[in-house]
Amino acid sequence: MKITLKHLTKVFANAKTKTEVVAVNDLDVEIPSGKLIGLLGPSGCGKSTTLFMLSGLEQPTSGNIIFGEDDVTTLAPEKRGIGLVFQNYALYPHMTVEQNIMFPLENMRVPKEEAKQRAFDAAKLVQIEDLLKRKPSELSGGQQQRVAIARALVKMPSVLLLDEPLSNLDARLRLQTREEIKRIQQETGITTVFVTHDQEEAMSICDSIIVMKTGIVQQMGHPQEIYDDPANLFVANFLGTPPINVFTGEIKNKAVYIGDEKIIDTEFEDQEIYIAIRPEGFIFDQENGVLTLSREHIEVMGRDKSVVSTHKNSQKPTVRSIIDSDVVLPEDVKQLKFNIKSNKIFLFNKDSEMRLK
Ligand code: ATP
Repeated sequence: MKITLKHLTKVFANAKTKTEVVAVNDLDVEIPSGKLIGLLGPSGCGKSTTLFMLSGLEQPTSGNIIFGEDDVTTLAPEKRGIGLVFQNYALYPHMTVEQNIMFPLENMRVPKEEAKQRAFDAAKLVQIEDLLKRKPSELSGGQQQRVAIARALVKMPSVLLLDEPLSNLDARLRLQTREEIKRIQQETGITTVFVTHDQEEAMSICDSIIVMKTGIVQQMGHPQEIYDDPANLFVANFLGTPPINVFTGEIKNKAVYIGDEKIIDTEFEDQEIYIAIRPEGFIFDQENGVLTLSREHIEVMGRDKSVVSTHKNSQKPTVRSIIDSDVVLPEDVKQLKFNIKSNKIFLFNKDSEMRLK
């Protein structure tokens, strides 16, 4: 089921302080049918509010929500054909796993035998069919989250909404469960919206990501496309581990400068800019390198190593460059020189922070 959001806006008014918060500001996107879409952004950017409006738990201030061809903006949550999974699994502790999964079907008055079969099928899909007789307290966090997902799927929803579903899991389980979510989504083909503040999580499993900041969409696209072609400095900064390196600099006479070092030629006019370079964009070249960094220490990462260094024009305390572990760095040289790969460097106007086009 395709989802269309038309100028969706949510304003929260605080009667006490007489202030307003625009949680979601003119969200205008189309979510293609059968895809896994990530709503990504820092805390407070409006991700959950968007999800709540999709679910019907929150009413928009203005704009429309269209599922397929139907406008569902004012439709009650239970009539929207959605499955919802939250960060806290919200399972009923006194019920067994099976009863928890069957619960939504009781409300829908599905006959007992059919409900049992559907609960089993949903449990099988998330691979917990052996745990049906247990109580939630007898399950691990990852298993509890699977029960919550099965409970959302048992209704056979046409849209699945996941709000930070992995937040309560430890690092290993997060990794495993996110792959599970991808598998389940692919097997069922249900249009799924996945809210997260974790860029790595969104990039690894989503077909497309919507990056938000202060209620406003910054960019939407395939994870690789956004990584390779960020629209503005915020997006460039938000995606990537280790994060992108940002320098202040300028364009002078058709060349990009960081301090007094000329980094690359450019066709753009003279202006002050931010220069962002991905960690993997540095090539060590002590003879002909265009950018000099003061080496601090080296982090061994296995296949690669990360050179941690400093530069007076860097926005962050350190600059990180990832280089192949085979590359030999001179032992006692403090000033290391690098060339920069042209597809790993991005230029942003200093005032607007928009990418130079
Ligand atoms: P988080 O990752 O921390 O959950 P989020 O991106 O999901 O953040 P929202 O919960 O959607 O962000 O909140 C967006 C903005 O709206 C925030 O500034 C928040 O304080 C505000 N907000 C959310 N719910 C309400 C409410 N019921 N009343 C007033 N303001 C609200």
